[in-house]
Amino acid sequence: MTTDDVISMTRDYLLQTYKRAPVAFSHGQGVWLYDLEGRRYLDFIGGIAVSVLGHAHPKLVAAIQAQASRLLHVSNLFHIAEQAALAKWLVEHSVLDRAFFCNSGAEANEAAIKLARKWGRRDGRDRYEIIVAQHSFHGRTMGTLAATMQPKYQQPFAPLPPGFVAVPFDDLDAVPSATTARTCAVLIEPTQGEGGIHPASTAYLQGLREWCDANGLLLMLDEVQTGMGRTGSLFAYEQYGIEPDVLTLAKGLGGGVPIGAMLVKEKAAALVPGDHGSTFGGNPLACAAALAVCQTVVEESLPARATAMGQRLIDGLQRLVDTRHGPAKGVRGRGLLLGLELEGEVAGSIVDRCREAGLLVNAVRPTTLRFAPPLIVQPDEIDQALAILDKVLAGGGVAEPAKSAH
Ligand SMILES: *Cc1c(COP(=O)(O)O)cnc(C)c1O
Repeated sequence: MTTDDVISMTRDYLLQTYKRAPVAFSHGQGVWLYDLEGRRYLDFIGGIAVSVLGHAHPKLVAAIQAQASRLLHVSNLFHIAEQAALAKWLVEHSVLDRAFFCNSGAEANEAAIKLARKWGRRDGRDRYEIIVAQHSFHGRTMGTLAATMQPKYQQPFAPLPPGFVAVPFDDLDAVPSATTARTCAVLIEPTQGEGGIHPASTAYLQGLREWCDANGLLLMLDEVQTGMGRTGSLFAYEQYGIEPDVLTLAKGLGGGVPIGAMLVKEKAAALVPGDHGSTFGGNPLACAAALAVCQTVVEESLPARATAMGQRLIDGLQRLVDTRHGPAKGVRGRGLLLGLELEGEVAGSIVDRCREAGLLVNAVRPTTLRFAPPLIVQPDEIDQALAILDKVLAGGGVAEPAKSAH
């Protein structure tokens, strides 16, 4: 099949839920992807912060192959050795006490929402409201969509489940007035990813922790995007000196094999048999893959790599901002989850021209480029990406056609 074949079949047979770039890949190696015509690309999207080990990492490939030849699936009617081992690893490497496994980030947050509501009613009081941030992103299921405070995602699907209260992100003063007698939890991303790569301040997360403690609320961190070393520590909360009551993971956890997890403190472990479940959740294949990812992230010190390589990328992006021969305006983010803010709505056209030049990045908003390369990225690969970006930005950007908001 050629790329043109794939594009026309996609157009004819798929529900058109995605705006896709006109490229299809045959294989990958490390930070590189190869398209069906053999052209190669530096992958600085990493499957949207998923491919923490890059493509075809030998340890992940070996774990998947070995598990696939032994046992793929049995269901949660039985004990699962790989699931128990992964839960033990996650508990021992975090401040949480128990794990629940599912298949995606949305499902992990859905589990957290259900857990918070059940926990909020443990003493007979009717507490079910969850405080979330404006411009948050927690998923596309009806529950997580209700928690995702972005009108463009919510409006077509109203009415959504009630019980979510939005506050401005990183504004501690807004939290008390959003808290009512019905509040049970706060759900927040340590760095807003889809909302534009905005890291929370230390004072904000520490203040939320104190507010939750003082008012008997669960602090639930959505680390679906920030987890697994991406921001420079295994989990982003470690950099804030706080402990969440609930932590959700997905994206990087399986290194490309779909898996999600909700980790909870013992005091928040409110779900009992029958309350929640998933046919596929935590199956042997997904858990064997995730365990290999977890072990490799630690063995190869990838959180520290994310800090070092992230700094190299930040420095390079900052140079592009300082030299000001293009629309680059400012750099945000931590570790290898970075955003480059642009002058004007040119991110889409910059993305296209980077791809044509062999660099994959994506536009998280019309004015923001996102960089989320595999954590195994090498210094010279960062430099190559910066060189491409430098050339593309020097050519300026073409503003996107005005959106409905204008
Ligand atoms: C991607 C993402 C999700 C949703 O994950 P899916 O696997 O697409 O359901 C939820 N929360 C955050 C912070 C994310 O980045």
